[in-house]
Amino acid sequence: MFPEGLKILRFWVDTDTCLDQRSCVIEAPDLLADHQASGGPLIKVTNLDNKDKYHQILNAAWACPVSAINVEFSDGSVESGAGDRIKSLSESLG
Ligand code: SF4
Repeated sequence: MFPEGLKILRFWVDTDTCLDQRSCVIEAPDLLADHQASGGPLIKVTNLDNKDKYHQILNAAWACPVSAINVEFSDGSVESGAGDRIKSLSESLG
C-alpha cells in the first residue's frame, strides 16, 4: 500500500547520465515525451496531482537503466531507481 500522506513533490532527469533511449517515455507517456535532441526526454507535465501520475513516474524511474530519474518525496527523501524504494512504491500502486 502506498504510504498514507506521502506525496511525490517533483522529479527530474540527470541529463549527464541519461542515455536517451526512452524507456521512461514508454512507462510515463502522460509525463514524458520523446525528444529529437539528446539530453533526456521532454518533460510534458510536472504537476503530479494523482496516483496514476505517481505510478507512471515511479515506473519510469524504475525502468531507467542508468537511474537518471530522481524523485523527491514529501518526507524529504530523493530516490532514483537504483534503490528498492522506487520499486516497492511502484508495486504498491498496482
Ligand atoms: S529511461 Fe533513463 S536513460 Fe533512458 S531516456 Fe529515460 S531518463 Fe534517459
